[in-house]
Amino acid sequence: MNDVFLSIGTNIGEREANLQQAVQLLQAQVEVVKVSSIYETAPVGYTDQPSFLNIAVHVRTTRSATEMLALCQAIENELGRVRDIRWGPRIIDLDILLFNQEIIATEHLLVPHPRMYERAFVVVPLVEISESFESEQMALARDTLDKLDLQQEGIILWGKFE
Ligand code: ATP
Ligand code: MG
Ligand code: MG
Repeated sequence: MNDVFLSIGTNIGEREANLQQAVQLLQAQVEVVKVSSIYETAPVGYTDQPSFLNIAVHVRTTRSATEMLALCQAIENELGRVRDIRWGPRIIDLDILLFNQEIIATEHLLVPHPRMYERAFVVVPLVEISESFESEQMALARDTLDKLDLQQEGIILWGKFE
């Protein structure tokens, strides 16, 4: 069994419903062990867009990392994601943060996610669900969280995932 941690984000339409649909589609294919609370964050990068809701999800599966990426992209497509502006508004984004303790670098997949440790909206929900899994990468995420100024990062607890 592989332990996989995903980050899911949305800033278009019914954001909470988008997260719920993404998790439902995941549950149909893999074991969803834990879902974090929902956090809201002001946009980074391309800032002229609505704020995001983000969660982290712990999944257990026999699927490979490549198969998990394909599943993430299939769910994005099913929910109607269109790709235009990089880091622009999106109905849903599913990224693989961690895959067991593996380091993966292929043309289409980088794990740990290369920008995860600089993003409060990734690290905060990830650490919230991290106690079920120990690794060097998870320890690094906890260290990163300790150093982040969450107020300055503009991340707030939005509510429980239900
Ligand atoms: P960011 O990667 O900065 O969060 P993004 O999620 O908006 O940006 P996407 O448009 O969703 O970027 O994905 C661009 C490409 O990133 C995908 O086609 C995929 O092949 C690649 N990719 C590389 N590593 C990962 C990963 N760990 N999880 C998801 N996609 C990845
Ligand atoms: Mg992303
Ligand atoms: Mg992505």
